[in-house]
Amino acid sequence: MKVRVLLLISAAVLLFCFQLSNVMVVDAKESAEQQIWWGNVKTANTEKDFPDLRGGPENPERERQLPIDMRILQQRYPDTFILQGPLEQNKIALTFDDGPDPRFTDDVLDVLDQYNVPGTFFVMGSRAIAYPEIVERMNNEGHVIGNHTYFHPNLVEEGDLATLEREVTRTEDVLNDIIGYRTSLFRPPYGFLYDELVEKLAEMQYLVIGWSVDALDWEEDPPEVIASNVLDNVQPGAIILMHDGADWDGDRSNTIESLDQIIPILQEQGYEFVTVPELLNVPFAK
Ligand SMILES: [Zn+2]
Repeated sequence: MKVRVLLLISAAVLLFCFQLSNVMVVDAKESAEQQIWWGNVKTANTEKDFPDLRGGPENPERERQLPIDMRILQQRYPDTFILQGPLEQNKIALTFDDGPDPRFTDDVLDVLDQYNVPGTFFVMGSRAIAYPEIVERMNNEGHVIGNHTYFHPNLVEEGDLATLEREVTRTEDVLNDIIGYRTSLFRPPYGFLYDELVEKLAEMQYLVIGWSVDALDWEEDPPEVIASNVLDNVQPGAIILMHDGADWDGDRSNTIESLDQIIPILQEQGYEFVTVPELLNVPFAK
């Protein structure tokens, strides 16, 4: 009997470790961005200053949610969760997150203008309301604007359905005041979502836009490295993730410089840059 109990416990531990390692694959990919974004909030977890649960002790009726890999969500919700466009055309889309940022966004727009290339900008509501003139410029120059929440929370760790709805609606209203349309595109901070959040976004008439190529530009490597992160992984239908915005101590100069390499090389290879809605042949507004 004892042996059986022991075996059961071992199996449970093994299963738990497996689940944990699955989650960490997703976590590791984005944790650096998260770290940059939230500064040092998550460091210094020694036993002495181990923080209390902000929302009180775990409610046993509430199952803790974990981020689900974007590829799994795409398979579960193929009509809502998009990672890339059709493979049979040479169209690709550049996307930029976390702006508008008064330090970098105008320079990104200048480069796109220089090559006559449209982009898709997933902006934060709190930054859009602070710098509406930059969002206006995006819109006037033919770029498409998507919703990237108001304050950029980790929607899995800190969020629930009510938080998601508040973050998304508030941003949608701010953007509508500036650009005159309600965007149909949403990108989750860090790519973190779980089933119920995707279902809620579908109910709110959003397409969730992930990415198929990660420029990893938030690591702030030299422009050549950012460029090869894109050039080595691009394929027809690619949705390329980059950032025009950063935290207060972040720098996107290398992102801007990398565009000067990425765009002409891919154009020479016969790729055509389009906005995400054009790539997917869907309306940009609800
Ligand atoms: Zn972001």
